[in-house]
Amino acid sequence: MRLILLGPPGAGKGTQAKMLKEKFNIPQISTGDILRQSVKDNNDLGIKASSFMNLGQLVPDDVVIGLIKKRIKQVDCKTGFILDGFPRTIVQAEKLSETMTEMGLKIDKVLDLEVNAKEVISRLAGRSTCSDCGGMYHEVTCPPKVSGFCDSCGGVLAQRQDDNVETILKRLEVYQESTAPLKQFYEKQGNLKAVTARGSVEEIFSRVLEMVK
Ligand code: AMP
Repeated sequence: MRLILLGPPGAGKGTQAKMLKEKFNIPQISTGDILRQSVKDNNDLGIKASSFMNLGQLVPDDVVIGLIKKRIKQVDCKTGFILDGFPRTIVQAEKLSETMTEMGLKIDKVLDLEVNAKEVISRLAGRSTCSDCGGMYHEVTCPPKVSGFCDSCGGVLAQRQDDNVETILKRLEVYQESTAPLKQFYEKQGNLKAVTARGSVEEIFSRVLEMVK
């Protein structure tokens, strides 16, 4: 199964991708996670990407396309994968299609997680992530038992640098301009499925499962 999760920042792509990964035992490929890890490691990719990320802008297409091309050719992707946060531009989607055709594969479903801007701002501004296991929390809807620490592994919770209101607004603007047109792109290919991304994580997941059945 080869899936793409589309949707604005804060739609819950990462959370749903993790749940799909557990259920179907296929890798979650998050360009955001790969880039954040590179920033942490302070390697060439991270140095190149960090200024774009901190401003809420997209990292240049050639950088992320190169990353994904390499990643989906790895052995653990043989039985499928979930793309979370890629593609984000028409150029990325076209290059992905080309690569998939070269590999004799196709994307099975593109799930578009739908959520409004007001909800996105409140979700992201209150979000914190475990720096060890990636577990996600929200100060109102899903607070940790002990403030500042992960329930599962005890790791320290941190707010993402780009989860402040100013950068969130920029990310939403970039989404509307560059990423939202992908809906038409995949609609034309006939594999786009809209999923209402409101309600609990479990409710959303059951809608997601309906769509991938
Ligand atoms: P995310 O974790 O998916 O919200 O991504 C965080 C940031 O990483 C984005 O705001 C971009 O700066 C960068 N990024 C992630 N995926 C991509 C992509 N496919 N194309 C360009 N930039 C990306």
